[in-house]
Amino acid sequence: MRTRFAPSPTGPLHLGHAYSALLAHDMARAAGGTFLLRIEDIDRTRARDHWEAQIYEDLHWLGIDWDEPPLRQSDRISAYEAALDSLWQRELIYPCHCSRRDIAAAASAPQEGAEPTVGPDGLVYPGTCRALLAPGYGATPRPGGTALRLNMARALEALPEIAFEETGAGPEGEAGRIVTSRQQLTETIGDVVLSRRDFTGSYHLSVVLDDAQQGITHVVRGQDLFSATPIHVVLQHILNLPHPQYHHHRLIRDETGRRLAKRDDARAIATYRTEGRSPPDIRAMVGL
Ligand code: GLU
Repeated sequence: MRTRFAPSPTGPLHLGHAYSALLAHDMARAAGGTFLLRIEDIDRTRARDHWEAQIYEDLHWLGIDWDEPPLRQSDRISAYEAALDSLWQRELIYPCHCSRRDIAAAASAPQEGAEPTVGPDGLVYPGTCRALLAPGYGATPRPGGTALRLNMARALEALPEIAFEETGAGPEGEAGRIVTSRQQLTETIGDVVLSRRDFTGSYHLSVVLDDAQQGITHVVRGQDLFSATPIHVVLQHILNLPHPQYHHHRLIRDETGRRLAKRDDARAIATYRTEGRSPPDIRAMVGL
């Protein structure tokens, strides 16, 4: 078993992160497996060195150690570029120039009054730029400085069933073999962004490439990412990557039932530490 914790250095780790990291770490140790760390810092506009340093400090304080040097996404740009080149040549991605406002306008235009579909990344892309493509475009150089979207319908053409093994549970208690239909993928998820205008890659692209690079067999992460997992399975198919098992875990909420967020400094691990709490206190607070 090889698992990982993959925080973004964009704010302090809070109780929700502590739960995720401790759970993955405990599972790896109980199985005699390997626990790894990955710093998800591709978004250089938000990542900060001091948050990365704080992540190492907080995890060490919690008693978490990792078995290999951390993988930093900012060191992996050439791997993301190579994957994008391959997808471009196969015409599985296309450039998109739409702003959020363009998407909102186009998504609500066809059915006046009908609510546009919201997928794991927000509004499902209505396909405006996909319709502008001339066949054979994959033979031209891949453009830079623009967003690139997955052509979901085309990606699904040659694929078998989209399924993954859930050893934890989704938000509705989904467990076991989770199958997502082609219709669900095209209609409720759609053409997700695989490379951003302002940086190379996107969460979906980098997470599958990095899980493969780190040889991850079990992805342990929050239920908020359950709905994104079918996207990752599609990408593993078209990029010829192995399929790990998934263990989505419950989210840690505040007393009003809201998910904790990065700006929730009151529940930052570092705050609890300066208040004199101990690592076992943190474990107890998250129910471990
Ligand atoms: N970097 C993501 C986060 O901080 C986690 C991604 C994952 O575990 O797949 O929410």
